[in-house]
Amino acid sequence: MARIVVKFGGTSVATVERIRQAARHVKREVDAGHEVAVVVSAMSGKTNELVGWVNEASPLHDAREYDAVVASGEQVTAGLMAIVLSEMGIQSRSFAGWQVPIRTDDAHGAARIVEIDPTELDKRMKDGWVPVITGFQGISPHGRITTLGRGGSDTSAVAVAAAVKADRCDIYTDVDGVYTTDPRIVPKAQRLTKISFEEMLEMASLGAKVLMIRSVEMAMAYKVPLLVRSTFDDPDAPQVGPDGLPGVPGTLVCDEDEIMEKHIVSGVTLAKAEAKITLRDVKDNPGVAAGVFGTLADQGIVVDMIVQNIADDGATTDITFTVPDSEYDKAIKALENAGDKIEYGRLSGSKGGAKVSVIGVGMRSHAGVASSMFRALADKGINIQLITTSEIKTSVLIDEQYAELAVRALHTYYGLDKKDA
Ligand code: ADP
Ligand code: ASP
Ligand code: MG
Repeated sequence: MARIVVKFGGTSVATVERIRQAARHVKREVDAGHEVAVVVSAMSGKTNELVGWVNEASPLHDAREYDAVVASGEQVTAGLMAIVLSEMGIQSRSFAGWQVPIRTDDAHGAARIVEIDPTELDKRMKDGWVPVITGFQGISPHGRITTLGRGGSDTSAVAVAAAVKADRCDIYTDVDGVYTTDPRIVPKAQRLTKISFEEMLEMASLGAKVLMIRSVEMAMAYKVPLLVRSTFDDPDAPQVGPDGLPGVPGTLVCDEDEIMEKHIVSGVTLAKAEAKITLRDVKDNPGVAAGVFGTLADQGIVVDMIVQNIADDGATTDITFTVPDSEYDKAIKALENAGDKIEYGRLSGSKGGAKVSVIGVGMRSHAGVASSMFRALADKGINIQLITTSEIKTSVLIDEQYAELAVRALHTYYGLDKKDA
């Protein structure tokens, strides 16, 4: 007998019919003798609709009320899932974040989970109940509803799994696993059987939205194995597989040591809508970068790639960095208004960049991955605007119009295309 936390994403609970399909997966696990807790997202499109209503009511709204509104989508699906499970003969009860409680900090709209009290969930599961918990939300130290940021139900699921000491966390979604790149962009993408936490972390932070970054960080920290699989597979198909894990198509996100076959490049990611900002003739003094990025951090602007040149005249340098397109105007204004805090000559920038990255733990031991990436892009006539690297990834910023072309070219170049496609 295992204890499993299962999470269903928005498309998996988009209608009552789909909730029924999702519930059949839960029933299979319960019938097999496992203890199960469920975490649900809102119906797909619902959170966007709720965000739209909040902005329509007032673009300058109080973040506490934003959370009160956008958290409601998950309350609906949690209740519906509990009803559907009960109808199937499974004792089930829904729990909103505050009822568990899932305690978070008070960063409304992007809250972090601080603590989950497992008592009630633990008791229910031991008594043969299936608790259904709203994803994406919690309660602040002031007793207000908070939300965790878009895609946050993945994080709720992993946090619940860690809190109730689950054996694994199954993420049910609309694809049957983690692919070498987004299968919507490259139909030849292949499903990975296993991927390491570290590679998944890079993939999530570089644009593969199949898992929220924070959920992977948490799974890695608490050693919760994640299984990404499809809700739309037949729930009654045989489920025996290696490691006591289902033998159905899926991807196991696990420790690097558990992966025998290590690829040099495991995946290619794409993040669009990246704006580039350059500060020229910045004084080459200690504290200048802290001034620039402190100014942006004060505004809550998240900076991604950062490149600083050496000062060839010994006095001034250039700094280029990227922010999401949606934060571009705010970032420019913040820098222009920073006054004496930052001494620079000129400010320039543009929206509409795309960040394309190649990821793989094999890069640690293989030279030449970056140079071959640049060659593959050059062969397609694609100009590289910025480059950043880490131990297991290389990212480039290019013009958005070449984004898909670049992803496809790199996917083919590194031999990731499905053989029979
Ligand atoms: P959910 O609503 O279940 O949380 P998401 O839409 O958040 O689902 O995430 C699943 C989607 O992630 C897939 O439909 C797919 O288009 C996209 N995706 C992006 N990159 C990848 C990848 N490397 N592997 C699998 N899916 C990916
Ligand atoms: N419903 C939330 C969103 O759309 C959380 C989630 O689905 O993970 O962002
Ligand atoms: Mg998601």
